Amino acid sequence: MAYRDEKLSEEKVFKDPVHRYIHVRDQVIWDLIGAPEFQRLRRIKQLGTSYLTFHGAEHSRFNHSLGVYEIVRRILDNFHDRPNWNPDERLLCLCAALLHDLGHGPFSHSFEKVFKLDHEDFTQAVILGDTKINKILSQVDEGFPQNVADIINKTYHNKLVVSLISSQIDADRMDYLQRDAYFTGVSYGHFDMERILRVMRPMEDQVVVKQSGMHAVEDYIMSRYQMYWQVYFHPVTRSAEVILSKILHRAKELYEEGYTFKLKPTHFVSFFSESPSLQEYLELDESIAMYYFQIWVNEDDAILSDLCERFVNRRLFKYIEFNPNLQMNAWMELYRLFTKAGLNPDYYLVVDSSSDLPYDFYRPGEEGERLPIHLLMPNQELKELSRESEIVESISGKKRTDHKLYFPLDRLEEMSDRSKTKKRIMEILFE
Ligand code: CA
Repeated sequence: MAYRDEKLSEEKVFKDPVHRYIHVRDQVIWDLIGAPEFQRLRRIKQLGTSYLTFHGAEHSRFNHSLGVYEIVRRILDNFHDRPNWNPDERLLCLCAALLHDLGHGPFSHSFEKVFKLDHEDFTQAVILGDTKINKILSQVDEGFPQNVADIINKTYHNKLVVSLISSQIDADRMDYLQRDAYFTGVSYGHFDMERILRVMRPMEDQVVVKQSGMHAVEDYIMSRYQMYWQVYFHPVTRSAEVILSKILHRAKELYEEGYTFKLKPTHFVSFFSESPSLQEYLELDESIAMYYFQIWVNEDDAILSDLCERFVNRRLFKYIEFNPNLQMNAWMELYRLFTKAGLNPDYYLVVDSSSDLPYDFYRPGEEGERLPIHLLMPNQELKELSRESEIVESISGKKRTDHKLYFPLDRLEEMSDRSKTKKRIMEILFE
């Protein structure tokens, strides 16, 4: 059965710095973009705290969501009339692409870690709950919201459709790599997307790429690899994230101790108990969060005030390479010395670890199992990418982890040079 597919009387276009134009022809898509839950994504930055490292990185999840939609739209234009593709799935795919990040909260990573939340649960809740988005999707067909939610949740029966939105070569990644490269201004992250879109083919349960497009795919994998280490895991961005996490921890701790805030953390209270309702969750966007951080600079609590001032004015923590698993004694001594120096180590001595797996071949049943990219050979056989490409093979299945120790160097420098505590801390950190 085809979904009711009402067209706009005239095509609408959005100007976009990455894809030039984003084309909208379906009434449903246009209505979804106008829904308050989707407009909210304008107030959530795509790259969280990265703007404190790359000042251009102020783009929002709104931009990115439109971009993912546009890439899927172009892929499906190319799939039309090909075997294995059912055009009745088109509108469903476009909606899933547009809405895949709907549940992201402010500064996703820090908030999710501190308050033990999962944006994917909220994406499902916005699509299936009592929202404008749900009302619009339900007008297409009664089962439509559930199907959109299932694609995003990767449980939809048609795996080909799922792989367009989430796989190792999906529209999500193709958009964010190019968009994040554009807005950060780095020269990594570029690859020939037009070429990849042209050689993508629908198969029964996945999207594959014609072998002739292998070099474009290699570029894409390498650009992802470089973007992770040069942009996403940049140590300065992580410093800002460490401070942000500590602000949230401190505010929660103070609230639980019954501390009297000058500005009560009204919007955070349900987060402190790790059980915000959908309504409460959607109300706390980045502009509201930043408002609290700015006002909290004037709180009496010295730690909360200092951390907020650091975040607002970008007075970040310094860092060194440090693996606490290998440097346990140094870690314990630093912890003791920081306490002695009056710097609460739970807030001012922080280890942060990041790790990435740039591409993985198929390991059925293993944790974090990922579907590999398959090449369609001229004889119609499928071959896993890392078996054909030496470049991809060289980084396949290789996980890299980076550990850093963050601390406020300015506070240590303020201490008297005659202090033995300071001398010893500096020795451990820098020698
Ligand atoms: Ca995304």
